Order: sequence, then structure tokens, then C-alpha cells
Amino acid sequence: MSLLSVKDALERILSAFQPLPKIYIPLDQTVGRILAEDIKANADLPPFDNSSMDGFALLASDVTQAGSATPIMLDVVDDIPAGKMPTKNLRAGEAARIMTGAPLPPGADAVVPVEETDFNNRAPGTPLPEKVKIFKAANLGANIRKCGDDIKSGASILPRGQRLRAQDLGMLAMLGIAEVPVYRKARVALLSSGDELTPIGEELTAGKIYDVNSYTLSAMLESAGCEIIPLGVAEDTPESVKAALAKAKNADLILSSAGVSMGSFDYIRVIIEAEGNLNFWRINMRPGKPLTFGDYQNIPFIGLAGNPVSAFIGFMVFVQPVIKKMLGYTDQAENRVRLRLAESLQSDGRESYLRATTYRENGQLYAKLTGHQGSGNLFSMVQAKALLIIPAGVKSLPAEAEIDAWLLDN
Ligand code: AMP
Ligand code: MG
Repeated sequence: MSLLSVKDALERILSAFQPLPKIYIPLDQTVGRILAEDIKANADLPPFDNSSMDGFALLASDVTQAGSATPIMLDVVDDIPAGKMPTKNLRAGEAARIMTGAPLPPGADAVVPVEETDFNNRAPGTPLPEKVKIFKAANLGANIRKCGDDIKSGASILPRGQRLRAQDLGMLAMLGIAEVPVYRKARVALLSSGDELTPIGEELTAGKIYDVNSYTLSAMLESAGCEIIPLGVAEDTPESVKAALAKAKNADLILSSAGVSMGSFDYIRVIIEAEGNLNFWRINMRPGKPLTFGDYQNIPFIGLAGNPVSAFIGFMVFVQPVIKKMLGYTDQAENRVRLRLAESLQSDGRESYLRATTYRENGQLYAKLTGHQGSGNLFSMVQAKALLIIPAGVKSLPAEAEIDAWLLDN
């Protein structure tokens, strides 16, 4: 029987998921969340003509002859701090003291900075002078930020699917959007399984190892923007696995690791078959062949292989895209690059994901494997900068061969 390809497996998995419902949350909680609607400007920005300098608003035509030796004297008729409206229309021969961000008074068509006047005293509380000398001519519109200069009402600002960054939050604040439409977080129930697994903090007894996958997978889920429902560590009995899965109600996805190979104590697949539907349980991949997919009581279920590297890579290849789809990312692209092998390598004909470091030589990116590729050797994953993707059917590649790879986050 030929095994399901990675591509077909991913297609089958993805088709079981839809983007999650849209919710509205306060702007200050949206960093890292995914926008669920296109955002358009609801007003012009800036919303009114204003000064970009502390200075004097005036009519440019009054000061065309101004120079350091030939200052022009104007009457100061108004004082406009930021946040206040002007009280006067400026006429020829008049100026208004104006602060950065303050609305331009009607009639004015330029601002001369204080540095170019005889009133360069900006100490708080300095009273308004009666007259001001202007030492420099001003172009029409100088130091004025016009209404709508940055953004016109109706302009597209942020697309649906955008992961919100600090600058995006600022932009939404600028538009006065207090409640932001984002996709609800994916709720992922996370289960580890195996009698040998000991939580960190407890003493290891003979034959036991620490539970690794709970930590790796939680971290990946968290950085992918999920809410985690921890199901803990199940023992290798049907009762223990069932009791753990029963806590997964309301989950959008159940993610487990281990217990899906051919061992005599691997109950997970059996329970999925009994309590839900098994879609597939093995794929043509290394590491991570015993990938299991189906549903448990109508909740989609992904069972990753148990070895720490298999679980990690299985998450990257299958779970990451699912979460992206649920969270409404429009861009599914991975950090894919082409790079060149520094040395020859062997593969076993399955689609293989090999851990490698990378370095640059004469502008070319090269890859070199990080030690042995056993699926329990998490240290080689720690050292890796890239996952090399060796296509199915390829058993060896010479040095200098070009291949696809994923760059791992630094
Ligand atoms: P299994 O699929 O249950 O046979 O597990 C395969 C291998 O992965 C075994 O060597 C397990 O001890 C190991 N393993 C499974 N789950 C974990 C885990 N959460 N942390 C560390 N190693 C694990
Ligand atoms: Mg096990």
C-alpha cells in the first residue's frame, strides 16, 4: 500500500477547517491578532489643516520681502495651542502664535517657525507678544499639514488577514477604532501520552523521561496565537486517554502526541476509531510517519508522532497551516528559501525534513546537517537554522545540489 503524500495529507487536514468567527475586542488587546475585516479610513487624516511647527501662522503674501536685515513686523492677534480652535480670521498684517498640531486659523496660508522670528522664547507661560518680527519669507503652505494629506476618507488602510503590529494598532487608534474585528482565537486541546512521561519538577524514576512535547507544542501554539486547553499527560490505558479527551469539549482542535504508532500500548488511534472517525494514520514522511488525522466526537483531531523532533516538525508542517487557516491568515507562505548542500546526503525515499545549519559563502546560502537525524535528537533541532525538504522518491543528493528549505525563526 502506498502511503499518503505530505501534500495530500495536508489538503485533507486543511479541508476540515474554516476561519473562526469574527469577534470585536478592545484595541489595546489586539497586538498579534488577525484582522477579520478590511479597514478603510472613516475620515480624512489629518482631520484638519494644522501646523507642523511651533511658530506663527500668517499670510505668505505679507512676508515675501522678509529677510534677516529686513524683518517684517506683524500684529499678533491670536494664540492657538494644540487642541484649541482659533478665535480669529487672519487678515493682512496679522499673525497668530501657533503650536505644533494646532488648527490653522482661517485666512492663514503659511507658518513661520519661531526660530525665524524675534520671538524665540518657548518657555511655558510666556505671554503672547503684541507684535512679532518675521526674518524669512515663507512659501505658500509652508509648515502646514493639510487635511487629508496622509489619508483620504475611504482609503484602504489594513487588509483582512493582517497580523496586527504595534504600528497597526497606532493606525487604528488614529482612526478612532476602539473595538477591532479580529478572528476568535483557536482553542486547542493539547494532550501528551505515555506511561514513561514525568512532568518536569518531579524526580525521574527508573525508565522514565521528562515530558517534552507538552512544552514544545504549547510554546508553538501560543506563538501561533491559540488558546490552549491543557489535557495533561495520559497514561497508556484506554481509560486514561478517554478521560483526558473528555476534557476537550469546546476545542476547535485536539492535538496529541505519541501513542499512534504500532506499539501494543498505543491506544489513541483505536479510541479515535471508536469515538469518532479516522481519516488516515500514516503518511510518507520522515520524521513523523505515524501522523493520525480524524475527529473525536466531531472535534478535529491531529495525532502527532511522539518523538520530540517528529512532534515539532509535524506541528510545523500540518498544524501551523491549520491554525493559520482558522485564524484567517490570507498568506499561507512559509519562510521558504532555495539553498545549496555543503555535502552530499542520503534520504530514505520518504519526504524528509532534515535539520541543518546554514552559512553564506560568496553570496550563496549553504546548508550542513546538524548531527544525526534521529527523531529523538532534539538537540539537533535546537542547533538547526533550517529544515531541508528532501522530496519523496529522492534517496541521495550530491554536494552543491539545490533544494528547498524552511528557515526557522531565529
Ligand atoms: P510512541 O508513539 O508513544 O511510541 O512514542 C514514540 C517515542 O516518543 C517514545 O520514545 C516516547 O518515549 C517518546 N515520546 C512520546 N511522547 C513524548 C513526550 N511528550 N516527551 C518526550 N518524549 C516523548
Ligand atoms: Mg507511547
